[in-house]
Amino acid sequence: MIKGDQKKLRRIGIMGGTFDPIHYGHLVAAEIARSKFMLDMVVFVPSGHPPHKQNVPGHAEQRLMMALLATVTNPYFQISRSEIDRLGPSYTYDTLIEFSELYGQQSELYFITGTDAVLEMLTWRNAEMLIDMCRIIAATRPGYDLTDISRLPSNFCEKIEMLQVPALSISSSDIRCRIREGKPIKYLLPEAVETYIYKQRLYIKGRL
Ligand code: ATP
Ligand code: MG
Repeated sequence: MIKGDQKKLRRIGIMGGTFDPIHYGHLVAAEIARSKFMLDMVVFVPSGHPPHKQNVPGHAEQRLMMALLATVTNPYFQISRSEIDRLGPSYTYDTLIEFSELYGQQSELYFITGTDAVLEMLTWRNAEMLIDMCRIIAATRPGYDLTDISRLPSNFCEKIEMLQVPALSISSSDIRCRIREGKPIKYLLPEAVETYIYKQRLYIKGRL
């Protein structure tokens, strides 16, 4: 077989985020992406030090634990400590480099994001190099217009796959607000994560 014709063997989905806390919006987007793009696995990579967020209320290890609790029932979902263990700001570009070394050239990387995040892609570190390393799956998210993506430069648009997911108007910041105000969070996130949050007394006070 000619070298360039070799088929990519594995399709790896990477779901980046702060996951503070992880909720059903993240899980539904990841699962629908996995099924539609026939991904062999989706790796959730909680950000260690998100460069675009000033204050992250949840401790990294707690965010990682919640991601683990939320994904344990899905045999295709995995968790990575990559960004949490890396020193300095968590750049997606560095994560992609690490994953391409880990999974090898015969794997294809799919970075899964919501529409809000994909619209900010040009501000990401080494965005031009990053877009050459993966395909982007842009999941619909209530409040953000997927068609705005067509305004990104053409080399970005060519690599972006649009993904319609059932609209879940859930966000981590709203969940944190609800906890602070004593409102219910049941059915917005997996029960094990809800239990963990209350047990660890997360988001009750301090920064939102
Ligand atoms: P916060 O309100 O703290 O920003 P968040 O709910 O946006 O939290 P993040 O951890 O920032 O969660 O998001 C991780 C990724 O998941 C991003 O790409 C984001 O666009 C996507 N995402 C989050 N919530 C949803 C949702 N309800 N539907 C689709 N995608 C989502
Ligand atoms: Mg967000």
